[in-house]
Parts: sequence; structure tokens; C-alpha cells
Amino acid sequence: MSSSFDPNTLHTDLFIDGAWQKAASGATFPVENPATNEVIANVADGGPEDARAALEAAGRAQSEWGKSAPRERADILRRAFELVIANTDRLAAIMTAEMGKPLAEARGEVAYGAEMLRWFSEEAVRISGDHTSSADGNTRIMITKEPVGPCVLVTPWNFPLAMGARKIAPAVAAGCTMVFKPAELTPLTSLALVQIFREAGLPDGVLNVVTTSSASSVVGTWTSSGIARKISFTGSTEVGKILLRQAADNVMRSSMELGGNAPFIVLADADIEKAVDGAMKAKMRNMGEACTAANRFFVHRSVVAEFSEKFAKKMSELQVGNGAVAGTEVGPLIEQKGLDKVESLVDDAVSKGARILTGGSRPEGPGYFYTPTVLTDVPIEADLMTTEIFGPVAAITPFDSEDEVLRLANDTEWGLVGYVFTENMDKALRFSAELEVGMVGLNTGLVSNPAAPFGGVKQSGLGREGGKIGIEEFLETKYTAIAV
Ligand code: ADP
Repeated sequence: MSSSFDPNTLHTDLFIDGAWQKAASGATFPVENPATNEVIANVADGGPEDARAALEAAGRAQSEWGKSAPRERADILRRAFELVIANTDRLAAIMTAEMGKPLAEARGEVAYGAEMLRWFSEEAVRISGDHTSSADGNTRIMITKEPVGPCVLVTPWNFPLAMGARKIAPAVAAGCTMVFKPAELTPLTSLALVQIFREAGLPDGVLNVVTTSSASSVVGTWTSSGIARKISFTGSTEVGKILLRQAADNVMRSSMELGGNAPFIVLADADIEKAVDGAMKAKMRNMGEACTAANRFFVHRSVVAEFSEKFAKKMSELQVGNGAVAGTEVGPLIEQKGLDKVESLVDDAVSKGARILTGGSRPEGPGYFYTPTVLTDVPIEADLMTTEIFGPVAAITPFDSEDEVLRLANDTEWGLVGYVFTENMDKALRFSAELEVGMVGLNTGLVSNPAAPFGGVKQSGLGREGGKIGIEEFLETKYTAIAV
């Protein structure tokens, strides 16, 4: 099985109205491999002029695309699913090169992203309305669904394929056209995905992509246009708030998948082996660079020693290195800024009394590597309790009572996901009900699933992606009153 790609076959241009094209300015920006610091490719650096051309193409294509047959849209998604699967090795290799995750994880993400395409190919033909009558019997009420219109899609660098697929798929299924801006750190996977949609037969103008080193000017052009009717964003809460303010000016529909500060709670009666396995997944998937990553481990004092020891042992055994090399289990962080942040969060926790059980250092050499780290006795005052770590650092804090841990877990402005480990069903259901989050992992460290609604409450976001309700984010409800 080959796990490389030919750099000469990479798409590096903008994709507007069905054609690959250079940025109007002719400018490009480099994409770096975070394991080696080498430049992989130079990608078109789009500006406001390109952004306008892309959105106008999406605007022109909307009317016809919105009236297309659901089966046609479903078939395009189905073909894209099959092409993504057939290109698994190539897509995974590109993703590993630009983002750093180990190839095995990159292949897992390709499968996850592909499943999004398959799921929404099945949803496209299930869009339905309703029909009822008014209480006084004088009016028939017909309820139909329509695409919201041209959508702005903005994605982060941590899941370069899946985050794009999770937005493009429901938009295609619903009959929306799109302008898409992938993260500047990882545009190559997105551009490869766009080529797949082209090969799958997506009509010109339906999906337009502008890569840029100036996110605010491109996205700002789109949000201020009046043409775009919706924005779907995945990224930081800070940028999400900026985009919500921009969306307000044109009253655009908004879906926001923002940051998290996930609690991982191990109750006294938990199966410790299960909890350690769950902790490895919830912490180490994507090197900890996930909004769903467990950020705060609250472990009952009676089991904290056993859990910490077993967890630290597994973390210390992980193979850190270039994700493209067979056997690597933990790749580099995405950039120097992320590495500096992780290091300063660990230093801060240690200065406030936390103890390092394993890790806590940067390996030598090129690349943004950080060793898998377990801290224990982390005080509530440590900065990482209120900051997304976004790295391979687990912070354990012991607790004594269930009321106390629920209060601690909910004491954050975020509410994306919470993990709970217990063998007692009453406690499991109590925690599931009382955690202020959009998603709960009960005895599991992994919640993402195309068939499930992904999303958060509080400042973790608005709306849901995936599941039965995922397509609703891209549909408007129209009501027609019919006189009897
Ligand atoms: P992260 O911390 O994961 O990098 P960001 O929120 O900074 O998350 O980035 C997520 C996406 O938002 C990226 O595609 C990035 O280019 C884009 N982005 C960042 N700042 C802005 C902005 N001011 N306006 C629009 N998009 C932005």
C-alpha cells in the first residue's frame, strides 16, 4: 500500500466557477510540513477580488442548483464518497504532510470524512415537509423546505478533510452553493477534496474555493456581500464571535463549531482499564489538537493513583515522530505558536503545584514536537483549566464528591463534550443529564460519528453537524397558507 503523493499532482490554485485559477494578484503563500519544517507547496493567495468572483459564481449557480433533483445531488455525493475512499492513501499522505498527524490517523480521518459524504448522500433524498390544517379549519398549512442559499464555509487546520466534508456534504444535499475557505496551514487536502467533487460531477459554481493568507479580508468580503445567506464556521471561539458579529449585519444564518474545555470524569466505581483506554483516545486523538480533546481530567481520589499510573505508562510508551514514518503514534504540533502555548501551560501548572508523571519536554530537532505528558495534582487555578491546551498534555485533578466534580466540570464558558466513566447506570444518567455540554461520552473517549449530531452549548457554538438534523442547518422552512 503506497502512502505517498506526487507533489506535481497537488492542486494549488483557487477553484472558481468550475475552473482552477491563479490569484488575481498572482501571489502565493507557502505550506509547511510541521514535522520537517520543509515547504511542501506554494498555494494561491486569494484576495478580495478573488473572493468576490467566487461568491458571484456561487450566487449565479444557486437558482438552478437549488432546483436540482435530490437524487442528482445524492448521486454526486455518493460518487465523491467512492472517490475519496479510492484515494485514501493519497489523501492521507497529503494530510500527514501538511498537518502532521500519523498516517494511520489520517486514514481514519479520510474514512470519517467519506462517511459524511455517504451519510448526506442518503439524507439528500429524505428532505421532507409537512401538511396540516389550522385549528379553525379555514386554512391548509403546507410546509416545505428550501436551500438557505449561498453559504460561506470556513474550516480549521486540525481535521483538514473531515471539517470540509462535514460542511460541504450537507450543503450539497440541501441544494446550497458554497464559497469555501480552508485553513491557511492546511489547504492542500481541501483542494484535493474539491478536485474529487469536480470529478464526481458537481456543477460549475456550486463549490468555489479561495485559499488565502488573509482570512479576514476574504471572509469579510463574503459576510458583507449580501449574497451569502449563511455562514458555517469551525474554529476558535474568538474568531467565531467576530464572524457572528459580521453575520449579524446581514442577518445570516450561522452555524458555529467553536472551542471546548472537555471534562473527563472518572468516578470511584469506574472500570479503570476502560477509563485509561478512553483517556488515550479522548486526549491523544490528533495529538490533542481537537476541540473534543479531554482538557481536564477529574478523577475520584480513591482511584487517582491507579488511573494516573496506568495512564502515564501508556502515554510514555507512545512513539513520537514524523507521521509519515511507519510506527509513529504521535506527530508534531501544527506550528511554533501551538508548541509555545503548550509549554507555557505546563510551566504554569508546575509552578502552581502540579507534578509531572511523564513527558513535559520538547524533543530536539526540526518539527514542532512535544512529548506526551501527564500532570497530576493540577490545581484549579492553573491556566490550563480555563484554556484549550490543544496538545498532548493531560492534566489530572483529584475530586472527592460527585456534586463537587459536577460543579467543577460545568464551571467553564464552554460546553462541547464531557466524558464520564462509571459502571453505575444511575450515576451515568445523572452525569449525562447534568453536564452542560452538547455531547457526552459514557465509558467512551470518542463521540464523533456521522450519524450523530455534533455540536456544543454555551460558548462552544450554535447548531449541529451530522445526524438527522445536520441537513436542517442548510434548509429554510417555508409555510404556505392555502384557503379552504
Ligand atoms: P485555530 O485556533 O484552530 O487556528 P482559528 O479560529 O484561528 O482557529 O481559525 C479557524 C479558521 O478561521 C481558519 O480557516 C482561519 O483562517 C479562519 N480565520 C481566522 N481569523 C479569521 C477572521 N478574522 N475572519 C475570518 N476567518 C478567520
